[in-house]
Amino acid sequence: MSTVKHTLRVNCKFCGALFDSFNLKKVCPTCDKNMDEYFKQIRAFLETCPDATSAEVCEALGIPLPIITFFIKEERLIVKNKKKGTAFQCEICHKPILSGRFCFDCSITIARSEMKTGLSHEEPERASQKFHTRGEIGNKRL
Ligand SMILES: [Zn+2]
Ligand SMILES: [Zn+2]
Repeated sequence: MSTVKHTLRVNCKFCGALFDSFNLKKVCPTCDKNMDEYFKQIRAFLETCPDATSAEVCEALGIPLPIITFFIKEERLIVKNKKKGTAFQCEICHKPILSGRFCFDCSITIARSEMKTGLSHEEPERASQKFHTRGEIGNKRL
């Protein structure tokens, strides 16, 4: 009760989990602890599937996509695409990226807007649909 900790509840920048942050850390203890393990897994995976995109790695290993992107950004992971030759482009801002479909910034924007539109979309649509359908049925019956 008496101890006041200078911590802040933040969302982990990788897995999104809420945790108590010390020293403005942005990575939760779980991700922090698993980082090296994740890296080993990804590296091993890329040895067997060198053409895998970060999305494929994410799906195959169940590692949060931002972690993979982080490794790529930090240049700990360099995704070689011998077959494809050309670098990928972010589908939104057309910034060159090493793998996947979106750059790190855009993938975060997408994740956020998907959450938002998912919520705000549903209600007005449902409301107008109801009204519309009722009118149509009425017209058809008459
Ligand atoms: Zn985390
Ligand atoms: Zn982008």
